[in-house]
Amino acid sequence: SEQSCEEISHLSIDIGGTLIKIVYFSTNSKCSTSDEVPALSKERQEVPNGDLNHHILSGRLYFVKFETSKIEDCIKFLSSKKLQQCVITGAQCHHSHAVDKIKIKATGGGAFKFANLFKEKLGITLDKVEEMESLVTGANFLLKAVSHEAYTYIGGQKEYVQIDQKDLYPYLLVNIGSGVSMIKVDGDGKFQRVSGTSVGGGTFLGLGKLLTKCQSFDELLELSHQGNNRVIDMLVGDIYGGLDYSKIGLASTAIASSFGKAISENKELEDYKPEDIARSLLRMISNNIGQIAYLNALRFGLKRIFLGGFFIRDHAYTMDTISVAVDFWSKGEAKAMFLRHEGFLGALGAFMNYKD
Ligand code: ADP
Repeated sequence: SEQSCEEISHLSIDIGGTLIKIVYFSTNSKCSTSDEVPALSKERQEVPNGDLNHHILSGRLYFVKFETSKIEDCIKFLSSKKLQQCVITGAQCHHSHAVDKIKIKATGGGAFKFANLFKEKLGITLDKVEEMESLVTGANFLLKAVSHEAYTYIGGQKEYVQIDQKDLYPYLLVNIGSGVSMIKVDGDGKFQRVSGTSVGGGTFLGLGKLLTKCQSFDELLELSHQGNNRVIDMLVGDIYGGLDYSKIGLASTAIASSFGKAISENKELEDYKPEDIARSLLRMISNNIGQIAYLNALRFGLKRIFLGGFFIRDHAYTMDTISVAVDFWSKGEAKAMFLRHEGFLGALGAFMNYKD
């Protein structure tokens, strides 16, 4: 009904290469239940937003995501009457002509790419917020306002980290989306994108789809869970006849060459199990990101590395690989910490950009 709609006051959107992330504020839980797009409610529940609720009076923040390639679903969601009439910055919801004045905070490359589409289909103007700035604002907000946001993942155990607000900066923010950005953060609005790599979540999903019969990210993750990377990766022990390379401290089980075993055997792609391929791939990409993150932390003398982006998806093997890589290369000096709201940093940052 129109009445319940008026209680959604703000909505922001982050349109990335793979996923669209939406954050919105509602004082009315009825208004936020999307009957038209049933798949969303499941997605929404995946996001632990419990802690955030305590910080916002008389309302809740909701988190929703869509695939960018299915932007029509997102348009459908936004065009539902509820949102169209409610998400108006500074204007009143009751005015019927207000629909033309809808302006939402938007970030990510898609805020440029799809600006016309939003205007034409929804009459919505995307009020752009710079992508790196959004990530940093989102991360800073979460690290300051949410008590159980950052955690380490060591030996299969999650441990929440108490953040000393006076001792938060500087830190390295690593956002693993389709591609990877590494940002040195020195304060609110004080940051520099110091590095990145194109070998990221899009690489895992893209290569994974080509190499296995997987159709979705979740399927690929699930597969990797069951696989064994030693079937495909060339280990130190494979080269050293089962021994460690002890002189330089490499265990026989360390990976000497990702996918390296595939060259030495007379095998075709079909001879490998998709789960083993998925696991080697996940391991290779996670290791590489962990290593580049560590090198950048070293470059600037940073001890804390916070990781976000939807590549992580709370996946044990991913987090374990990145944590071990950072720990190994830094000899225990640097720490990898994961953020509970992982993929929503940018959308949250854009959301924080509303002035009222
Ligand atoms: P971007 O802003 O570039 O889209 P995200 O932080 O949203 O980046 O992360 C996108 C990546 O997250 C994908 O490349 C993929 O590796 C991973 N991912 C996690 N969940 C999904 C999903 N449901 N569909 C597609 N990719 C997913």
